[in-house]
Amino acid sequence: MDLISRDAQHVWHPYSALGSRLPVFGVQRAQGVRLYLEDGRELIDGMASWWCAIHGYNHPRLNAAVSDQLGDMAHVMFGGLTHEPAVSLAERLVGLTPEPLQAVFFADSGSVSVEAAMKMAIQYWIARGRPEKRRFLAPHGGYHGDTLHAMSVCDPVTGMHGLFRDVLPQQVFIARPEAVFGAPCETRHLEELAAALERHAHELAAMIVEPVVQGAGGMRFYSADWLRAARELCDRHGVLLIADEIATGFGRSGRLFACEHAGISPDIMTVGKALTGGYMTLAATLTTREVADAIAGGEPGLFMHGPTFMANPLACAVANASVDLLLESPWQAQVAGIEVGLQVGLEPCRDLAQVTDVRVLGAIGVVELSEPVDMRRVQPMFVERGVWVRPFGRLVYLMPPFVMERGDLDRLTAAVVDVVSSMRPGDG
Ligand SMILES: *Cc1c(COP(=O)(O)O)cnc(C)c1O
Repeated sequence: MDLISRDAQHVWHPYSALGSRLPVFGVQRAQGVRLYLEDGRELIDGMASWWCAIHGYNHPRLNAAVSDQLGDMAHVMFGGLTHEPAVSLAERLVGLTPEPLQAVFFADSGSVSVEAAMKMAIQYWIARGRPEKRRFLAPHGGYHGDTLHAMSVCDPVTGMHGLFRDVLPQQVFIARPEAVFGAPCETRHLEELAAALERHAHELAAMIVEPVVQGAGGMRFYSADWLRAARELCDRHGVLLIADEIATGFGRSGRLFACEHAGISPDIMTVGKALTGGYMTLAATLTTREVADAIAGGEPGLFMHGPTFMANPLACAVANASVDLLLESPWQAQVAGIEVGLQVGLEPCRDLAQVTDVRVLGAIGVVELSEPVDMRRVQPMFVERGVWVRPFGRLVYLMPPFVMERGDLDRLTAAVVDVVSSMRPGDG
């Protein structure tokens, strides 16, 4: 049996049914900005493996970081032991993120770092003698992961709340930020947020947001003013602010962290995805000394979380190398160049009747359609055009590796224009 048939026998893919007849493609290797398929075809990668592979694939510096670390140790438990890769990575993260963030908890995936962030907020209020502050406030349109508590703060419509209603904790939701990125936020845009805080602050541990860029919940870019106002309102009402930078961290939005667009610092921040340059799963939850000290001073005086593979040395070593590589690279110019290439390249989509919006921020380009994409038909069309683009719902979007050159980017956007043009309004 060939790989694809064997795969269909036993293997689940993300958000899929076992043995679903949606197309799956076998990858043999990846290099730079290209994926090489088993059947010999090569694809220009428009997805960076879901925000992760910012430096491209099979990078000599990142490969060396993994193999050098492998010679020392692949893994040791983090309970009672520590190591250079973890301590250096914590120091790097503290150095790069807003100044008040001083304490780092390593987790083994983004969703787990969100769980840790939520538990930190709950434990903080228990330690402060306010155990009733244990709910969370979130805007519609968010995405924070697939574990149960992370899911409870995802968009309630697209985030599977219907299916899991009876097992999810009930959180407080407000409409998604209305003012778009670059536009000022008016008082009326903040009324619902202010009212929700007024009404629920006594029971809220924290508000959780993806700063400026809402990713998998809808790929929308909202006003930095809104984020700045949310920070002020949370402070005024005694509610912590969690910024989920798992998708936006490490340059994707044009700033190293998207919070920088608003000049704010959250009380708790999560990072993941591009942290290891797409090599391995690793995430981290950062917080302030105030939160860390309160948890240390409360009952039981410990933060109650500890993944088996916490601070895996291979993952930390490659994360250190990836962060260094990013900071040594002209990433601002690369991301700005991709932003222009996406704007120019996707512009023709704007004239199509089936397209409701085209938007670009940093190295993220989005074409929003009036109808959901028929993946069975559309996925092979992209592959035939030599590109890897993975739409979801009504969104066809690109987030290429930062190292992509203009010629490849132009082929990628031309393929999007071509494929989207072939969809007629109403036929998905
Ligand atoms: C991907 C993502 C997560 C979840 O990360 P996983 O590593 O998939 O668990 C959480 N928050 C945001 C904003 C994300 O983009």
